[in-house]
Parts: sequence; C-alpha cells; structure tokens
Amino acid sequence: MIKLSMRDFGQIFIGPKGLDKSWQKKFPNATKCCRCGENSRIAFVYHEDQNQENYVADLHERNKQEGEEKGKLWPHDSIAVATYFCEKCLEPTSLYNQA
Ligand SMILES: [Zn+2]
Repeated sequence: MIKLSMRDFGQIFIGPKGLDKSWQKKFPNATKCCRCGENSRIAFVYHEDQNQENYVADLHERNKQEGEEKGKLWPHDSIAVATYFCEKCLEPTSLYNQA
C-alpha cells in the first residue's frame, strides 16, 4: 500500500478561491477555450510550493545549458496550474506559471 503525506505533492483549490494561488499575477476567473474560443470557467488550481517531495518539473528532461545535449521544453520550477472548462464544448483549458 502506498502511503502519501500532504508534503508529497502540491495543493488543489476548487473554484475561485484558488485564483490567487499563482506564482505570477492572479489567474483570471475565466479564459478563452483552447478548442472553440468560447468562454471557459474556472474549475480548480493546482499549486506547488517549495517544501514538498515531488514536483512536476522533475518528471521529464528539459533543455539544458548551451553546449550540452538538448532535451525538450518542460517547466523548471514549482508550478501553479489553473484548469477551466468550456461553457459550450466542455473542453478543459489550462493556464500555468512557474516560481
Ligand atoms: Zn469550447
């Protein structure tokens, strides 16, 4: 059985109370759907702080310094991700930023 502690990962905030759990400016309450362009409303925010065990940034290789072997694009620090659902087609759209 896998036992998880609260420090293994970030926190999830349901709805608008997560909008200020951003590493940059506050997330908007709504955004444009990435599929159809209609209005998408906030669902939840996932927020990583700097005192946890696991980070999304560590999941995959990312570009290295010039002169080293090149990887691919991937976040390099703690992330905050706001996920929205479209009013018209229900497609999820996410906005994110890094510490
Ligand atoms: Zn849509």
